[in-house]
Amino acid sequence: MRITSITMLLIAFSSITVATTASAEKRKNMVAIAIHGGAGVIPRDQLGPDDGASYRAGLSEALDAGYAVLAAGGNSLDAVTTAVRLLEDNPLFNAGKGAVLAHDGYAELDASIMEGRTLAAGAVTGLRHVKNPIDLARRVMENSPHVFLSGAGAEEFALTQDLTLVPNEYFVTPTRKRQLERVLQGRVQARNELQGLGTVGAVAVDAQGNISAATSTGGMTNKRWGRIGDAPVIGAGTYANNASCAVSATGHGEYFIRSVVAYDICALVEYRGWTLEKAAKEVVHGKLIQRGGEGGIIAVDPQGNVAMQFNSPGMFRGMRDSAGRREIAIYEK
Ligand code: ASP
Repeated sequence: MRITSITMLLIAFSSITVATTASAEKRKNMVAIAIHGGAGVIPRDQLGPDDGASYRAGLSEALDAGYAVLAAGGNSLDAVTTAVRLLEDNPLFNAGKGAVLAHDGYAELDASIMEGRTLAAGAVTGLRHVKNPIDLARRVMENSPHVFLSGAGAEEFALTQDLTLVPNEYFVTPTRKRQLERVLQGRVQARNELQGLGTVGAVAVDAQGNISAATSTGGMTNKRWGRIGDAPVIGAGTYANNASCAVSATGHGEYFIRSVVAYDICALVEYRGWTLEKAAKEVVHGKLIQRGGEGGIIAVDPQGNVAMQFNSPGMFRGMRDSAGRREIAIYEK
């Protein structure tokens, strides 16, 4: 009797192990990417006459380009760089061309990138002439002994990296000029414009199970005194660790920095063993709301799970994976 139950227990155990290994195997080659184009208050009338179709098209283009890198066997670092670069080039989003303007009328750009396999990271802030800030962040990570470069020094480094530099006017669009004017004239609640809608980011997991995160932004309209948001701050706006997850954030940076949002989500996954979804919800809908921080995040884990959580009325976002899921959305469904 005793032997029989032990035998049965062993059989049960071995089938659990088989099932677990099978699902781990299945997930091993799972690739996934998620992107965002900013969170905040997005009144429908500000979406333009096409009701957001151009934003969706921009998100689709970046999502599919990033996914194509993964589908072709490329790594997650290349996938997030590709997606973010395209969003930087799209004038609708608050990164690269079309970035929001600082108090003095200039665009001032921040970006960061992190690789979960090595914990290598690169970040840049206060750029005025680098066409694609995400490319410079990646060069800082790969070609410099440092992690975080700022302003003139960062641009001096860019000159050694064969990157495209442009006059600041390249970034400035009529829409962003109008937004700054309205804030300066006190015609709109600074808080609305300060949401800095349109920060961009991407997270991805490749077929090797390696994850990466990237974020790029112009920050907030009317920012002054060299203000730096969360986007280029490793741990706040961007974080990636193969032991937990990769996160890119968007929202009111001052709150995201103080809550160390991206790292906090990964820490809950790593130390508490929570699922990505549970950890993301706890930080975005729990801690951040309690502290008054509006915004959202996208995240992936090495198993291919994707989380997209926001506590604002909307977040431009998209995800695609090798299980056939593909989604582009702006508002809560
Ligand atoms: N997080 C960005 C910043 O504070 C802005 C945004 O994501 O909307 O600079």
